[in-house]
Amino acid sequence: MYYKIIDYSHNNEAAMFDTGYKFTCVDRFLKYVKYDTTSDEESTTFPSDPKQLELSKDLVPELKEIGLEDAHMDQYGYVMATLPANTDKDVPVIGFIAHVDTSPAVSGKDVNPVIHKNYRGGDIVLPKDQTKVIKVDENPVLKDMIGFDIITTDGTTLLGADDKAGIAEIMDAINYLVAHPEVKHGTIKICFTPDEEVGRGTEKFDVAKFGAKYAYTIDGGTRGEVETETFSADAVVIKFHGKNVHPGYAKNKMINSQKIAAKFIESLPKGELSPETTEGREGYVHPVSIVGNEELTTVKFIIRDFITEKLHKYEELLKKLVDETVAQFPGATADFDIIEQYRNMVEILNQHPMVEQVAIEALKKIDVVPLKTAIRGGTDGARLCFMGLPTPNLFAGGHNFHSQHEFVAIQDMETATKMIVTIAQLWEEKA
Ligand SMILES: [Zn+2]
Repeated sequence: MYYKIIDYSHNNEAAMFDTGYKFTCVDRFLKYVKYDTTSDEESTTFPSDPKQLELSKDLVPELKEIGLEDAHMDQYGYVMATLPANTDKDVPVIGFIAHVDTSPAVSGKDVNPVIHKNYRGGDIVLPKDQTKVIKVDENPVLKDMIGFDIITTDGTTLLGADDKAGIAEIMDAINYLVAHPEVKHGTIKICFTPDEEVGRGTEKFDVAKFGAKYAYTIDGGTRGEVETETFSADAVVIKFHGKNVHPGYAKNKMINSQKIAAKFIESLPKGELSPETTEGREGYVHPVSIVGNEELTTVKFIIRDFITEKLHKYEELLKKLVDETVAQFPGATADFDIIEQYRNMVEILNQHPMVEQVAIEALKKIDVVPLKTAIRGGTDGARLCFMGLPTPNLFAGGHNFHSQHEFVAIQDMETATKMIVTIAQLWEEKA
């Protein structure tokens, strides 16, 4: 991930947020992390692991208690609810989305959050596994958190700020809006999804039923993050066909497809165009598996770049290398197939510039410097963009996702809550 800091001059308009408000996001968050909602990469069911539903179904009465009467969970575990408009203006329906599941990479069972009040600087040793240390030199963001209250794990599990912080912040923002009817807003839709971490969070997402025109996932990291770009992604499958003969009688007859594949892999560009040699906005071609025998060897690639046109250039390059390699093995052939995976969401978001503009303006209004970032990967929001729901990703405040070193500052969670309220308010103002 890379950052581009956008410099906006300080905005002196009157504060929009009631500074006496008692936030509820932290209490909610500490409750949510107690649910083990680890999703399952191997599963083919939906949701991938039904234990996610334990949290999802408990979010429904919580939404109802805030006042969202139509809150419900569908058969797949998607929780949806509506905060009705309190204005006569014709405001686009805006959605806020977060995911209930946590990454299968690290245990999410028996999470014991530890609150480090009034952080004084320095490395944070996690109490239950003292080999686990959140180091300042690896987490320079800690330097901006002096005096903050930081929630960490005890060192034995992940925390689940990804994305239970997002859920808690959305809940709190809705709670604020209900408690402050003088703050005008259009219709607001809420959705909490399962299975984001296993890439399936949008699989059963009913965009038409959700009914929002634009949405925001609250699933980013650092305070101020506004993510409007993802990679564009294709997969390439190359099949090298050799010729198998009993090895005892193979002279001048056998063509070993594994050797063709090895020669082809060796011909790939070196020092560039691979994950291990690129960063920022550079793309790559990346072999992810080789499976074969004498007769047939299949090589799978993933192809990534922020510019879709460049994917096609990379694919042409691979095709040329395949042809050159196969030509050295008379009698061998190769199949070359391209599979489209996903596209940079900026292609959609550029058609709806207001979505990003409102988020950035909201950050300015609450004195947060917007950090525009490009994700070297995909997001559920990117998929939603191409399903007809333009959805950039905004910060939820967590750091070191998918690890025992995960942490989130209470002050950042409260800032994210303010951001959500302010976004709702700005859409109304601009209508
Ligand atoms: Zn997440």
